[in-house]
Amino acid sequence: MSLRDQFPILQRKVNGYPLVYLDNAATTQKPQVVLDAMNGYYSQSNANVHRAVHTLAGEATEGYESCRTKLKQRFNASKAIITSGTTEAINLVAHAWGRANLRSGDAIVLTEMEHHSDIVPWQMLAQERGVELRYVPVTQHFTLDMDAFAHSLDGAKLVCVVHTSNVLGVRNPLEDIIAQSHAAGAKVLIDAAQGVPHATVDFKAFGADFMAFSAHKMCGPTGIGALLVQPDAFEEMQPFMGGGDMIETVSVEGSTYQTNEHKFEAGTPRIAEAIGWSAALDWMDSFDLDAEHERMVSIARWVADELRTMGMSVYGRHDDDDAAVVSFLHPTINSEDMAHLLDARGYAVRTGHHCAQPLLNRLGITGTVRASFYVYNTREEAEGLVAELKEIVEKFA
Ligand code: PMP
Repeated sequence: MSLRDQFPILQRKVNGYPLVYLDNAATTQKPQVVLDAMNGYYSQSNANVHRAVHTLAGEATEGYESCRTKLKQRFNASKAIITSGTTEAINLVAHAWGRANLRSGDAIVLTEMEHHSDIVPWQMLAQERGVELRYVPVTQHFTLDMDAFAHSLDGAKLVCVVHTSNVLGVRNPLEDIIAQSHAAGAKVLIDAAQGVPHATVDFKAFGADFMAFSAHKMCGPTGIGALLVQPDAFEEMQPFMGGGDMIETVSVEGSTYQTNEHKFEAGTPRIAEAIGWSAALDWMDSFDLDAEHERMVSIARWVADELRTMGMSVYGRHDDDDAAVVSFLHPTINSEDMAHLLDARGYAVRTGHHCAQPLLNRLGITGTVRASFYVYNTREEAEGLVAELKEIVEKFA
């Protein structure tokens, strides 16, 4: 069965036309094996984890923990905390590491390219603790101003940077950022929500202290993600949420905590989602992600070139390591109108600020139309998109 045929949703029609799903930077579709794995858990093994000796509890625990094992293997990480997604993973760093290690006068370096989920938690912490936030500007070439970055490091305790922009598709020079940050004595958090769906990362060799990402952008379920942490940074984290599963002992006088990742996973975890994500991770191993990435980026590059010849402004870059994301605007056709016209023909694209308002402010715009490609998208779909856009421009410009 072809890779694409494994996605039941791609058979559906939207407004009478075959669905062409190009909103993958928002969330990806799920292959049948992921749906089956989640259904299998609920219909055959549903039980709580870590809490009972009966067979179903054993199966549920094994299913949940095997997701962690697969994450550690795939990313060569010694600690993988399971969260509800990238957003919760970043908030966890702010609460569990930030509160314990940052104080008034310390600085956190962010970039103007960050998603709101890598800005707002730091603004909240800054307000609470008097920490200074410094934002690295984005240049007119859609890249980080690396001179400004180098200057921002003096006195910085933490650098938070997006692996790959969800608006521009640009992959940042992370190896350089990590090396410079560590040389300056700062820890590094990578928001890899858009990075790891396109390329696996050897977390140990990569050297970032924290890395956050979501399952749903790599063909796994919604509601689950991970925070990878290097061992020394893990030792500097204090528990954030208290409750069941994260403790070793509880008495009326006080509690002691687990020492492994469970310390940060209070309460009943996302069992079905972990089982679904495990299946998605196995599925991702069934093809060559690097080859697929190369194919997707070459499609995105072709679309971007075609749009430029139609008079559109394209925001971003499509180098080999960038993501297959094409953000664009027509000089006179409103982006919402464009997206509605595309939807009427079955094309799903996103419009708006993409949760990156500081970036759009820097670019002097309030939103873009964004087409983002993933492993099941075809060159024919991209050609169809370009043809539809040509028709729209001819009719409405
Ligand atoms: N960072 C980036 C770069 C993203 O693209 C997203 C999702 N759009 C997030 C963070 C937040 O991910 P989630 O909503 O899954 O927590």
